[in-house]
Amino acid sequence: LDTGLIPVRLIRSIAEMQNASAGLHAAGKRIGFVPTMGALHEGHLSLIRLARQETDEVVTSVFVNPTQFAPTEDFERYPRNLERDAGLAAGAGSSIIFAPERHDIYPEPFLTAVELKGMDEVLEGKSRPGHFRGVATVVLKLLNIVVPNTVVFGQKDAQQVVVIRRMISDLNLTVRMLVAPTVRESDGLAMSSRNAYLTPEQRCEAPVLFAALQEAVQRIGAGAHDAPAIIAAMTTMITQRSAGIIDYISIADNGTLQEVSTLKPGSTVLLSLAVRFGATRLIDNVVVQVKEKD
Ligand code: AMP
Repeated sequence: LDTGLIPVRLIRSIAEMQNASAGLHAAGKRIGFVPTMGALHEGHLSLIRLARQETDEVVTSVFVNPTQFAPTEDFERYPRNLERDAGLAAGAGSSIIFAPERHDIYPEPFLTAVELKGMDEVLEGKSRPGHFRGVATVVLKLLNIVVPNTVVFGQKDAQQVVVIRRMISDLNLTVRMLVAPTVRESDGLAMSSRNAYLTPEQRCEAPVLFAALQEAVQRIGAGAHDAPAIIAAMTTMITQRSAGIIDYISIADNGTLQEVSTLKPGSTVLLSLAVRFGATRLIDNVVVQVKEKD
C-alpha cells in the first residue's frame, strides 16, 4: 500500500505476520503493537504514536473480533474500511497493518478460550457476558502471532486494561504493556468508533457522559465520599440533559474493580458508566485519586 507517507505493509496471513515479526526480531528491532477493530480515530492514532516512540516498528492489527460481540450486538454493522485505516495508521507511524481473516483466527472447530474469573460479574462484563473471554482470547492469540516487545491499550476501555494486565501476569507473558489516556472530542465526548452511529441529536447529548464524570470528580474533590449519593447526582444529570438510558454507573476500586460504597481517603477509584442512545451504547470512565484526610 502506498499511502504517500511511510510505506506500510498490509499483511493478511498469520504465517506472513509471524515471518515478518521473526525478521524484525532477528534484525534487533523492538516491535510495538496496537490491537484495534479498525475504524481508526485519534484515540487509536495516539496509541500508535506512543508505540512508535517506545519501539522501532509498530504493528497495528485490524480485526473485528466476532467472539467479543453478543449475538444482539453490532458485529455486522461495525464500520469497516481497511484502506482508510491503513493510511491513518501509517501516518501515525505504523509500518505494518495486520488484518487477518476470521476463518484463520478461528478455524472450526475452535476449542480454546481464556477466561478471567469474576470479570463477567462486574461493569462491562455484567452487561456484556462473555465479552472479556472473547477479548482475552483474541489478544493472547494476536500477542502470540505478532510477538511484540510492547503492546499499547487505551484507558478508554478501563476493564479491558485490568483484564489484559492480569492475563499478562497470570500467564507469565513477557510483553510490556502501556496504557494511553483517553482522547476526547473538544466537547469532552470520548472518541469511539461507535460515535459514528449517533444521530445529530444524540451526538449533541452524548457529552453528558463526560460532564457527569466531571461532576463526580468535582464532588469527590470537595470531600464527597458516599458513592450512592455521587452516583445519584450523575444519574440526575444524565437523565435531565439527555434521552440516554443508563446501563450502569459505577464507583469501584481501580485495582480489583469491586464497587465501593464509601470512598476511602488515599484510595484510587474508577468512575465508569455505560449509557445507551437508541441502539448505540457508549462507555466512558475517569480514574480519581481520593485525597488523604487533611
Ligand atoms: P477498539 O478498536 O475500539 O477495539 O480499540 C482499540 C484500542 O484503542 C483499545 O486499546 C482502546 O482502548 C483504544 N481506544 C479506543 N478509543 C480510544 C480513545 N478515545 N482514547 C484512547 N484510546 C482509545
